[in-house]
Amino acid sequence: MEEPITILRIFDFDETIAHTESETRVKAPDGSMATLRDQKEFEEYMNAAAAKERINAFDAVDSLIEAGYQIDLSDFSIVKEPEEITIVTDIMKEFPPDSKTYIITARRGRSLGPIMDYLDEIGVDSSRVRPIATQGESKGDVIATMLSQKILPNGKSNITKIEYFEDSVKNIEDVLEKVCNNPDLNDVKPAEFELIIKQVTHNGHAYIFNDIEC
Ligand SMILES: [Mg+2]
Repeated sequence: MEEPITILRIFDFDETIAHTESETRVKAPDGSMATLRDQKEFEEYMNAAAAKERINAFDAVDSLIEAGYQIDLSDFSIVKEPEEITIVTDIMKEFPPDSKTYIITARRGRSLGPIMDYLDEIGVDSSRVRPIATQGESKGDVIATMLSQKILPNGKSNITKIEYFEDSVKNIEDVLEKVCNNPDLNDVKPAEFELIIKQVTHNGHAYIFNDIEC
């Protein structure tokens, strides 16, 4: 039997589908406090703290909490003052018949309900979107697993195309490494396989795409 799904559409949430006013508040074991206003500040702080504590993990948050850091991520359990990024959501609203649509967010905890409610608010049918929260872990690992999940009788994945919408350089580099440069996937990738990354950036006036391919 033919497997009709050939395209995976994967969307990040924060700063890809919507800009939000989420902040992270941190208190370090030495008593110092910080408010991290965006993803760049978040990654810089966590990278520096991880280096200081000699933590070597894809995502250092859990290890830093164990080391005594108080990290308040509660803004990410809601969708705080969202501003829709329409260059992305205009595409998201069209569901090609041979595709499956996912949200993969690095958010933790019970964050998926508010995200799905927000999709319905902006006119994206959330019942056609499968949400996954990686809790900070590697999106590249999740996507690589998706690619090898359904193998056709010819030994190749049913997926010939992945479209990935994301703003984070860290996540994009991880996905390029795990999906494009992963020898374990060479045998299952169909000859015509393509990964198209639409990196969402803001040029000071508007959101634009920066296209990256395998
Ligand atoms: Mg993001």
